[in-house]
Amino acid sequence: MIKLVLSPAMKALDASEGSIGVDITLEDYSAEAGELILKISKKTIMKTFLEFIREIKITDDEGEIPCEITEGDGGSYVTAVSYFAGRKTSGNIKVSYSCRVPLAGGNPCFDLGVENGGMTGSGMTFIPAFREGKYEYSVKWDLSGMPDFCVGCWSFGEGNVTGIRGDENLASITFYMAGRPECVKYGRYAFYWFEHNDRILKYAVDTSAIFEYEADFFNDHELRYNVFCRKLRSEKDLAGGTALDRSYIYGYSDFDRIPHESIIHTFAHEMVHNWMEMDNSPFGTCTWYIEGGAEYYSAVLPYRMGILSREEFRDAMNRRAVAYYKNRYRHVDDMEPAGKLFADSEIMNVPYGRGFCYLTHADEEIRRKTDGKHSLDDIAKKLAEMYKSDRHIQNEAWLEEYAKYVGREQAEQELRDLKAGKDIVPGALCSEGALRLTQVPDKENVTDKDILVWKYELTEEEK
Ligand SMILES: [Zn+2]
Repeated sequence: MIKLVLSPAMKALDASEGSIGVDITLEDYSAEAGELILKISKKTIMKTFLEFIREIKITDDEGEIPCEITEGDGGSYVTAVSYFAGRKTSGNIKVSYSCRVPLAGGNPCFDLGVENGGMTGSGMTFIPAFREGKYEYSVKWDLSGMPDFCVGCWSFGEGNVTGIRGDENLASITFYMAGRPECVKYGRYAFYWFEHNDRILKYAVDTSAIFEYEADFFNDHELRYNVFCRKLRSEKDLAGGTALDRSYIYGYSDFDRIPHESIIHTFAHEMVHNWMEMDNSPFGTCTWYIEGGAEYYSAVLPYRMGILSREEFRDAMNRRAVAYYKNRYRHVDDMEPAGKLFADSEIMNVPYGRGFCYLTHADEEIRRKTDGKHSLDDIAKKLAEMYKSDRHIQNEAWLEEYAKYVGREQAEQELRDLKAGKDIVPGALCSEGALRLTQVPDKENVTDKDILVWKYELTEEEK
Protein backbone atom coordinates (compact mmCIF):
# COMPACT_ATOMS: atom_id res chain seq x y z
CA MET A 1 0.00 0.00 0.00
CA ILE A 2 1.37 3.39 -1.02
CA LYS A 3 -0.09 6.39 0.81
CA LEU A 4 0.70 9.87 -0.42
CA VAL A 5 0.03 13.09 1.45
CA LEU A 6 0.48 16.13 -0.75
CA SER A 7 0.83 19.63 0.71
CA PRO A 8 0.75 22.24 -2.04
CA ALA A 9 1.36 25.81 -0.95
CA MET A 10 0.90 29.18 -2.63
CA LYS A 11 0.95 32.52 -0.80
CA ALA A 12 -1.77 33.82 -3.14
CA LEU A 13 -3.56 32.39 -6.16
CA ASP A 14 -1.66 34.78 -8.45
CA ALA A 15 1.73 34.04 -6.88
CA SER A 16 4.54 33.37 -9.34
CA GLU A 17 5.80 30.35 -7.46
CA GLY A 18 4.69 27.82 -4.90
CA SER A 19 5.87 24.66 -3.23
CA ILE A 20 4.73 21.14 -2.65
CA GLY A 21 5.44 18.89 0.31
CA VAL A 22 5.35 15.16 -0.37
CA ASP A 23 5.03 12.54 2.39
CA ILE A 24 4.80 8.93 1.33
CA THR A 25 4.20 5.93 3.56
CA LEU A 26 5.08 2.55 2.06
CA GLU A 27 3.23 -0.19 3.94
CA ASP A 28 4.17 -3.87 3.51
CA TYR A 29 7.11 -2.72 1.45
CA SER A 30 10.41 -3.85 2.87
CA ALA A 31 13.79 -3.80 1.21
CA GLU A 32 16.88 -5.92 1.71
CA ALA A 33 20.27 -4.19 1.72
CA GLY A 34 21.04 -3.22 -1.87
CA GLU A 35 17.43 -3.44 -3.01
CA LEU A 36 15.67 -0.59 -4.83
CA ILE A 37 13.35 1.60 -2.74
CA LEU A 38 12.35 4.24 -5.24
CA LYS A 39 13.32 5.89 -8.46
CA ILE A 40 12.76 9.45 -9.66
CA SER A 41 12.90 10.51 -13.27
CA LYS A 42 15.41 13.34 -13.23
CA LYS A 43 14.37 14.21 -16.75
CA THR A 44 11.31 13.05 -18.73
CA ILE A 45 11.36 14.18 -22.35
CA MET A 46 11.91 17.95 -21.90
CA LYS A 47 10.81 18.24 -18.28
CA THR A 48 13.08 17.99 -15.24
CA PHE A 49 12.25 16.86 -11.70
CA LEU A 50 11.45 19.88 -9.50
CA GLU A 51 14.20 21.50 -7.47
CA PHE A 52 14.25 20.25 -3.87
CA ILE A 53 13.64 22.63 -0.98
CA ARG A 54 13.99 19.68 1.42
CA GLU A 55 15.95 16.73 -0.04
CA ILE A 56 14.47 13.22 -0.05
CA LYS A 57 14.71 11.60 3.39
CA ILE A 58 13.87 7.91 3.74
CA THR A 59 13.20 6.50 7.20
CA ASP A 60 11.75 3.42 8.90
CA ASP A 61 11.25 2.16 12.47
CA GLU A 62 15.01 2.28 13.02
CA GLY A 63 15.47 5.83 11.77
CA GLU A 64 17.04 7.14 8.61
CA ILE A 65 17.84 4.56 5.93
CA PRO A 66 21.20 5.29 4.30
CA CYS A 67 20.82 4.94 0.54
CA GLU A 68 23.08 4.33 -2.37
CA ILE A 69 21.99 6.67 -5.14
CA THR A 70 22.76 5.93 -8.79
CA GLU A 71 21.93 7.80 -11.94
CA GLY A 72 21.23 6.02 -15.19
CA ASP A 73 19.07 5.42 -18.19
CA GLY A 74 15.43 4.96 -17.14
CA GLY A 75 14.04 3.83 -20.49
CA SER A 76 12.42 5.85 -23.30
CA TYR A 77 13.51 9.49 -22.91
CA VAL A 78 13.92 9.27 -19.16
CA THR A 79 17.00 9.78 -16.99
CA ALA A 80 16.40 7.97 -13.70
CA VAL A 81 17.91 8.42 -10.24
CA SER A 82 17.55 5.27 -8.14
CA TYR A 83 17.65 4.99 -4.35
CA PHE A 84 18.88 1.59 -3.04
CA ALA A 85 18.58 0.62 0.64
CA GLY A 86 21.95 0.72 2.46
CA ARG A 87 20.59 -1.78 5.01
CA LYS A 88 17.63 -4.11 5.53
CA THR A 89 14.56 -2.04 6.34
CA SER A 90 12.24 -2.55 9.30
CA GLY A 91 8.52 -1.66 9.41
CA ASN A 92 6.85 0.93 7.21
CA ILE A 93 9.12 3.04 5.05
CA LYS A 94 8.49 6.79 5.04
CA VAL A 95 9.68 9.12 2.32
CA SER A 96 9.56 12.87 2.81
CA TYR A 97 10.68 15.89 0.78
CA SER A 98 9.47 19.18 -0.61
CA CYS A 99 9.99 20.95 -3.91
CA ARG A 100 9.80 24.43 -5.34
CA VAL A 101 7.00 24.77 -7.91
CA PRO A 102 7.93 27.30 -10.60
CA LEU A 103 5.70 28.95 -13.21
CA ALA A 104 4.00 26.38 -15.42
CA GLY A 105 5.81 25.59 -18.67
CA GLY A 106 4.63 24.85 -22.21
CA ASN A 107 3.48 21.60 -23.80
CA PRO A 108 3.83 18.78 -22.99
CA CYS A 109 2.46 19.91 -19.59
CA PHE A 110 4.24 17.21 -17.57
CA ASP A 111 5.88 19.73 -15.23
CA LEU A 112 4.09 20.65 -12.02
CA GLY A 113 3.79 24.43 -12.34
CA VAL A 114 1.81 27.38 -11.00
CA GLU A 115 -0.46 29.67 -12.96
CA ASN A 116 -3.09 32.20 -11.98
CA GLY A 117 -5.51 30.14 -9.85
CA GLY A 118 -3.40 27.21 -8.72
CA MET A 119 -0.99 24.54 -9.90
CA THR A 120 -1.23 21.69 -12.42
CA GLY A 121 1.08 19.01 -13.73
CA SER A 122 1.98 15.36 -13.78
CA GLY A 123 3.68 13.33 -11.07
CA MET A 124 6.63 12.80 -13.40
CA THR A 125 8.33 15.90 -12.08
CA PHE A 126 7.63 15.46 -8.37
CA ILE A 127 6.60 11.88 -7.48
CA PRO A 128 8.84 8.79 -7.60
CA ALA A 129 8.17 5.35 -9.02
CA PHE A 130 8.67 2.32 -6.80
CA ARG A 131 9.93 -1.26 -7.10
CA GLU A 132 8.22 -3.21 -9.86
CA GLY A 133 4.88 -4.56 -8.68
CA LYS A 134 1.17 -3.95 -8.18
CA TYR A 135 0.14 -1.60 -5.40
CA GLU A 136 -2.87 0.05 -3.89
CA TYR A 137 -2.57 3.83 -3.79
CA SER A 138 -4.20 6.60 -1.83
CA VAL A 139 -3.75 10.37 -2.17
CA LYS A 140 -4.61 12.81 0.62
CA TRP A 141 -4.40 16.57 0.36
CA ASP A 142 -3.24 18.97 3.05
CA LEU A 143 -4.41 22.32 1.70
CA SER A 144 -3.48 24.38 4.75
CA GLY A 145 -0.77 26.14 2.74
CA MET A 146 -3.23 27.21 0.03
CA PRO A 147 -5.63 30.19 0.07
CA ASP A 148 -9.24 29.51 1.17
CA PHE A 149 -11.71 27.47 -0.91
CA CYS A 150 -9.08 25.49 -2.79
CA VAL A 151 -9.40 21.85 -3.82
CA GLY A 152 -6.86 19.17 -4.62
CA CYS A 153 -7.49 16.78 -7.46
CA TRP A 154 -5.77 13.71 -8.87
CA SER A 155 -6.43 11.84 -12.13
CA PHE A 156 -8.63 9.49 -10.12
CA GLY A 157 -10.77 12.07 -8.40
CA GLU A 158 -11.21 15.22 -6.39
CA GLY A 159 -10.28 15.41 -2.70
CA ASN A 160 -8.89 12.42 -0.86
CA VAL A 161 -8.87 9.29 -3.02
CA THR A 162 -8.26 5.74 -1.82
CA GLY A 163 -8.22 2.22 -3.21
CA ILE A 164 -6.67 2.88 -6.64
CA ARG A 165 -4.69 -0.12 -7.88
CA GLY A 166 -1.84 0.18 -10.31
CA ASP A 167 1.78 -0.38 -11.25
CA GLU A 168 4.87 0.97 -9.54
CA ASN A 169 4.75 4.22 -11.51
CA LEU A 170 1.04 5.00 -11.24
CA ALA A 171 1.46 8.03 -8.96
CA SER A 172 4.17 9.38 -11.22
CA ILE A 173 2.36 9.07 -14.54
CA THR A 174 -0.90 10.72 -13.50
CA PHE A 175 -2.00 14.36 -13.22
CA TYR A 176 -2.47 16.59 -10.20
CA MET A 177 -4.16 19.92 -9.71
CA ALA A 178 -4.53 22.13 -6.64
CA GLY A 179 -6.18 25.53 -6.52
CA ARG A 180 -9.53 27.20 -7.03
CA PRO A 181 -10.75 26.00 -10.45
CA GLU A 182 -13.88 26.40 -12.51
CA CYS A 183 -15.33 23.04 -13.37
CA VAL A 184 -17.90 21.14 -15.45
CA LYS A 185 -18.89 17.74 -14.08
CA TYR A 186 -21.08 15.31 -15.98
CA GLY A 187 -21.44 11.74 -14.78
CA ARG A 188 -17.93 10.40 -14.32
CA TYR A 189 -16.35 13.22 -16.29
CA ALA A 190 -14.86 16.37 -14.83
CA PHE A 191 -13.15 19.22 -16.63
CA TYR A 192 -11.15 21.82 -14.67
CA TRP A 193 -9.64 25.15 -15.60
CA PHE A 194 -8.60 28.21 -13.66
CA GLU A 195 -9.42 31.51 -15.35
CA HIS A 196 -12.99 32.07 -16.56
CA ASN A 197 -13.13 31.53 -20.32
CA ASP A 198 -16.27 30.94 -22.43
CA ARG A 199 -14.38 29.01 -25.08
CA ILE A 200 -13.02 26.55 -22.51
CA LEU A 201 -16.49 26.23 -20.99
CA LYS A 202 -17.84 25.10 -24.39
CA TYR A 203 -15.07 22.49 -24.75
CA ALA A 204 -15.93 21.25 -21.29
CA VAL A 205 -19.61 20.76 -22.16
CA ASP A 206 -19.08 19.16 -25.60
CA THR A 207 -16.30 16.85 -24.52
CA SER A 208 -18.28 15.59 -21.54
CA ALA A 209 -20.92 14.28 -23.98
CA ILE A 210 -18.23 12.63 -26.13
CA PHE A 211 -16.68 10.98 -23.09
CA GLU A 212 -19.99 9.45 -22.03
CA TYR A 213 -20.58 8.13 -25.56
CA GLU A 214 -17.08 6.69 -25.94
CA ALA A 215 -17.14 5.13 -22.47
CA ASP A 216 -20.46 3.44 -23.29
CA PHE A 217 -19.11 2.23 -26.61
CA PHE A 218 -16.13 0.58 -24.91
CA ASN A 219 -18.35 -0.82 -22.13
CA ASP A 220 -16.60 1.13 -19.44
CA HIS A 221 -18.84 1.86 -16.47
CA GLU A 222 -16.21 2.20 -13.79
CA LEU A 223 -13.61 4.85 -13.32
CA ARG A 224 -13.92 8.55 -13.89
CA TYR A 225 -12.05 10.77 -16.29
CA ASN A 226 -10.59 14.18 -15.52
CA VAL A 227 -9.38 16.91 -17.81
CA PHE A 228 -7.14 19.64 -16.44
CA CYS A 229 -6.39 22.81 -18.37
CA ARG A 230 -3.33 24.97 -18.26
CA LYS A 231 -3.26 28.45 -19.68
CA LEU A 232 -0.01 28.83 -21.59
CA ARG A 233 1.78 32.12 -21.17
CA SER A 234 3.77 32.63 -24.30
CA GLU A 235 2.74 33.11 -27.89
CA LYS A 236 5.40 30.56 -28.78
CA ASP A 237 3.71 27.84 -26.73
CA LEU A 238 1.64 25.68 -29.03
CA ALA A 239 -1.78 24.71 -27.76
CA GLY A 240 -2.28 20.98 -27.36
CA GLY A 241 -2.72 18.27 -24.85
CA THR A 242 -1.19 15.23 -23.29
CA ALA A 243 -3.05 12.14 -22.20
CA LEU A 244 -2.09 9.97 -19.26
CA ASP A 245 -4.00 7.25 -17.47
CA ARG A 246 -7.64 8.33 -17.06
CA SER A 247 -6.81 11.98 -17.51
CA TYR A 248 -5.77 14.62 -19.93
CA ILE A 249 -4.04 17.93 -19.59
CA TYR A 250 -4.82 20.56 -22.15
CA GLY A 251 -2.61 23.58 -22.67
CA TYR A 252 -4.42 26.51 -24.31
CA SER A 253 -3.60 30.12 -24.87
CA ASP A 254 -5.27 33.36 -25.82
CA PHE A 255 -3.18 33.34 -28.99
CA ASP A 256 -4.32 30.05 -30.48
CA ARG A 257 -6.88 30.19 -33.26
CA ILE A 258 -7.65 26.50 -33.47
CA PRO A 259 -11.19 25.84 -34.77
CA HIS A 260 -13.64 24.43 -32.26
CA GLU A 261 -14.17 21.35 -34.41
CA SER A 262 -10.52 20.33 -34.40
CA ILE A 263 -10.32 20.81 -30.63
CA ILE A 264 -13.27 18.41 -30.35
CA HIS A 265 -11.33 15.90 -32.45
CA THR A 266 -8.28 16.29 -30.29
CA PHE A 267 -10.23 15.48 -27.13
CA ALA A 268 -12.12 12.64 -28.79
CA HIS A 269 -8.77 11.20 -29.95
CA GLU A 270 -7.12 11.49 -26.55
CA MET A 271 -10.06 9.93 -24.73
CA VAL A 272 -10.00 6.87 -27.03
CA HIS A 273 -6.54 6.18 -25.59
CA ASN A 274 -8.29 5.12 -22.38
CA TRP A 275 -9.44 1.95 -24.12
CA MET A 276 -7.53 1.28 -27.34
CA GLU A 277 -4.24 0.43 -25.73
CA MET A 278 -1.44 -2.06 -26.19
CA ASP A 279 2.00 -2.59 -24.74
CA ASN A 280 3.98 -0.40 -27.12
CA SER A 281 7.46 -1.69 -26.27
CA PRO A 282 9.86 -1.42 -27.87
CA PHE A 283 8.38 1.99 -28.57
CA GLY A 284 6.69 1.99 -31.99
CA THR A 285 5.66 -1.68 -32.08
CA CYS A 286 1.94 -1.00 -31.73
CA THR A 287 1.73 2.75 -32.45
CA TRP A 288 -0.21 1.99 -35.63
CA TYR A 289 -3.01 0.41 -33.54
CA ILE A 290 -2.95 2.83 -30.61
CA GLU A 291 -2.77 6.06 -32.63
CA GLY A 292 -4.58 4.74 -35.70
CA GLY A 293 -7.41 3.53 -33.47
CA ALA A 294 -7.65 6.92 -31.75
CA GLU A 295 -7.76 8.61 -35.16
CA TYR A 296 -10.40 6.20 -36.42
CA TYR A 297 -12.79 6.39 -33.48
CA SER A 298 -12.34 10.13 -32.95
CA ALA A 299 -13.89 10.56 -36.42
CA VAL A 300 -16.40 7.71 -36.44
CA LEU A 301 -17.89 8.00 -32.94
CA PRO A 302 -18.65 11.76 -32.94
CA TYR A 303 -20.36 11.19 -36.32
CA ARG A 304 -22.42 8.29 -34.99
CA MET A 305 -23.49 10.25 -31.93
CA GLY A 306 -24.65 13.05 -34.21
CA ILE A 307 -22.36 15.91 -33.25
CA LEU A 308 -20.64 15.87 -36.68
CA SER A 309 -22.66 16.53 -39.83
CA ARG A 310 -21.95 14.36 -42.91
CA GLU A 311 -19.83 17.14 -44.35
CA GLU A 312 -17.86 17.53 -41.14
CA PHE A 313 -17.42 13.78 -40.98
CA ARG A 314 -16.15 13.69 -44.57
CA ASP A 315 -13.71 16.49 -43.75
CA ALA A 316 -12.55 14.71 -40.61
CA MET A 317 -11.92 11.49 -42.57
CA ASN A 318 -10.08 13.37 -45.29
CA ARG A 319 -7.89 15.30 -42.89
CA ARG A 320 -6.64 11.93 -41.66
CA ALA A 321 -6.43 10.01 -44.96
CA VAL A 322 -5.17 12.75 -47.28
CA ALA A 323 -2.50 13.77 -44.79
CA TYR A 324 -1.18 10.21 -44.89
CA TYR A 325 -1.15 9.81 -48.65
CA LYS A 326 0.51 13.19 -49.11
CA ASN A 327 3.16 12.40 -46.49
CA ARG A 328 6.51 11.83 -48.19
CA TYR A 329 7.46 9.33 -45.47
CA ARG A 330 4.42 7.08 -46.00
CA HIS A 331 6.61 4.19 -47.20
CA VAL A 332 9.08 4.12 -44.28
CA ASP A 333 9.36 1.05 -42.08
CA ASP A 334 6.97 1.15 -39.12
CA MET A 335 9.72 1.40 -36.50
CA GLU A 336 11.47 4.36 -38.10
CA PRO A 337 9.25 7.14 -36.72
CA ALA A 338 9.74 5.82 -33.17
CA GLY A 339 13.43 6.64 -33.31
CA LYS A 340 12.70 10.22 -34.35
CA LEU A 341 10.41 11.24 -31.48
CA PHE A 342 9.86 15.01 -31.60
CA ALA A 343 12.46 15.36 -34.36
CA ASP A 344 10.26 15.63 -37.43
CA SER A 345 6.52 16.00 -37.06
CA GLU A 346 5.89 14.73 -40.58
CA ILE A 347 7.54 11.37 -39.98
CA MET A 348 5.96 11.21 -36.52
CA ASN A 349 2.52 11.41 -38.13
CA VAL A 350 3.11 8.32 -40.27
CA PRO A 351 1.84 5.66 -37.83
CA TYR A 352 -1.24 7.80 -37.06
CA GLY A 353 -2.33 8.03 -40.69
CA ARG A 354 -1.12 4.55 -41.56
CA GLY A 355 -3.00 2.98 -38.67
CA PHE A 356 -6.11 5.01 -39.48
CA CYS A 357 -6.12 4.04 -43.19
CA TYR A 358 -5.39 0.43 -42.38
CA LEU A 359 -8.17 0.22 -39.79
CA THR A 360 -10.71 1.59 -42.30
CA HIS A 361 -9.51 -1.19 -44.61
CA ALA A 362 -9.70 -3.89 -41.92
CA ASP A 363 -13.18 -2.71 -40.95
CA GLU A 364 -14.27 -3.02 -44.58
CA GLU A 365 -12.81 -6.54 -44.83
CA ILE A 366 -14.66 -7.66 -41.70
CA ARG A 367 -17.97 -6.16 -42.83
CA ARG A 368 -17.65 -7.72 -46.29
CA LYS A 369 -16.74 -11.16 -45.00
CA THR A 370 -19.54 -11.24 -42.42
CA ASP A 371 -22.27 -9.59 -44.52
CA GLY A 372 -22.19 -6.58 -42.27
CA LYS A 373 -22.78 -8.57 -39.08
CA HIS A 374 -19.39 -7.64 -37.64
CA SER A 375 -17.03 -4.71 -37.89
CA LEU A 376 -13.83 -3.33 -36.42
CA ASP A 377 -15.94 -2.39 -33.38
CA ASP A 378 -16.00 -6.04 -32.30
CA ILE A 379 -12.20 -6.25 -32.21
CA ALA A 380 -11.68 -2.83 -30.62
CA LYS A 381 -14.11 -3.70 -27.82
CA LYS A 382 -12.64 -7.17 -27.35
CA LEU A 383 -9.05 -5.89 -27.16
CA ALA A 384 -10.10 -3.10 -24.77
CA GLU A 385 -11.58 -5.78 -22.52
CA MET A 386 -8.43 -7.91 -22.78
CA TYR A 387 -6.17 -4.94 -22.02
CA LYS A 388 -7.97 -4.42 -18.70
CA SER A 389 -6.60 -7.70 -17.38
CA ASP A 390 -3.42 -7.96 -19.46
CA ARG A 391 -1.48 -4.78 -20.10
CA HIS A 392 1.06 -6.67 -22.19
CA ILE A 393 -1.10 -7.47 -25.19
CA GLN A 394 0.53 -6.55 -28.49
CA ASN A 395 0.08 -7.11 -32.24
CA GLU A 396 -0.44 -10.84 -31.69
CA ALA A 397 -3.74 -10.12 -29.94
CA TRP A 398 -4.82 -8.08 -32.95
CA LEU A 399 -3.79 -10.87 -35.33
CA GLU A 400 -5.72 -13.47 -33.39
CA GLU A 401 -8.92 -11.43 -33.40
CA TYR A 402 -8.64 -10.18 -36.97
CA ALA A 403 -7.81 -13.68 -38.24
CA LYS A 404 -11.20 -14.87 -36.94
CA TYR A 405 -12.77 -12.86 -39.77
CA VAL A 406 -10.19 -12.91 -42.58
CA GLY A 407 -8.04 -15.95 -41.81
CA ARG A 408 -4.58 -16.10 -40.29
CA GLU A 409 -2.71 -15.88 -43.56
CA GLN A 410 -4.35 -12.67 -44.72
CA ALA A 411 -4.11 -11.11 -41.26
CA GLU A 412 -0.37 -11.78 -41.07
CA GLN A 413 0.34 -10.66 -44.62
CA GLU A 414 -1.53 -7.39 -44.11
CA LEU A 415 0.32 -6.65 -40.88
CA ARG A 416 3.68 -7.34 -42.58
CA ASP A 417 2.72 -5.02 -45.43
CA LEU A 418 1.59 -2.36 -43.00
CA LYS A 419 4.86 -2.53 -41.06
CA ALA A 420 6.86 -2.38 -44.28
CA GLY A 421 5.01 0.75 -45.43
CA LYS A 422 3.34 -0.76 -48.48
CA ASP A 423 0.40 1.05 -50.08
CA ILE A 424 -2.88 0.76 -48.21
CA VAL A 425 -6.28 0.88 -49.89
CA PRO A 426 -8.59 2.43 -47.27
CA GLY A 427 -12.24 1.51 -46.77
CA ALA A 428 -15.46 3.54 -46.67
CA LEU A 429 -17.91 1.05 -45.16
CA CYS A 430 -17.26 2.53 -41.71
CA SER A 431 -19.28 5.53 -42.89
CA GLU A 432 -22.32 3.25 -43.20
CA GLY A 433 -23.34 4.64 -46.57
CA ALA A 434 -22.47 8.29 -46.03
CA LEU A 435 -19.13 8.32 -47.88
CA ARG A 436 -17.34 6.66 -50.73
CA LEU A 437 -13.72 6.74 -51.86
CA THR A 438 -12.08 8.07 -55.00
CA GLN A 439 -8.48 8.49 -56.04
CA VAL A 440 -7.58 12.00 -57.11
CA PRO A 441 -4.35 13.63 -58.31
CA ASP A 442 -2.54 15.70 -55.71
CA LYS A 443 0.96 16.85 -54.75
CA GLU A 444 3.17 15.20 -52.18
CA ASN A 445 4.03 17.47 -49.24
CA VAL A 446 7.42 19.22 -49.37
CA THR A 447 8.59 17.48 -52.60
CA ASP A 448 5.57 18.63 -54.65
CA LYS A 449 5.71 15.34 -56.55
CA ASP A 450 2.57 14.37 -58.52
CA ILE A 451 0.75 11.60 -56.71
CA LEU A 452 -2.67 10.02 -56.36
CA VAL A 453 -4.39 10.27 -52.99
CA TRP A 454 -7.47 8.56 -51.63
CA LYS A 455 -10.25 10.95 -50.79
CA TYR A 456 -13.67 10.51 -49.18
CA GLU A 457 -16.68 12.16 -50.78
CA LEU A 458 -20.38 12.18 -50.02
CA THR A 459 -22.33 9.42 -51.74
CA GLU A 460 -24.82 10.54 -54.43
CA GLU A 461 -27.96 10.05 -52.39
CA GLU A 462 -26.47 11.92 -49.45
CA LYS A 463 -25.18 14.93 -51.37
ZN1 LIG B 1 -2.78 9.82 -29.61
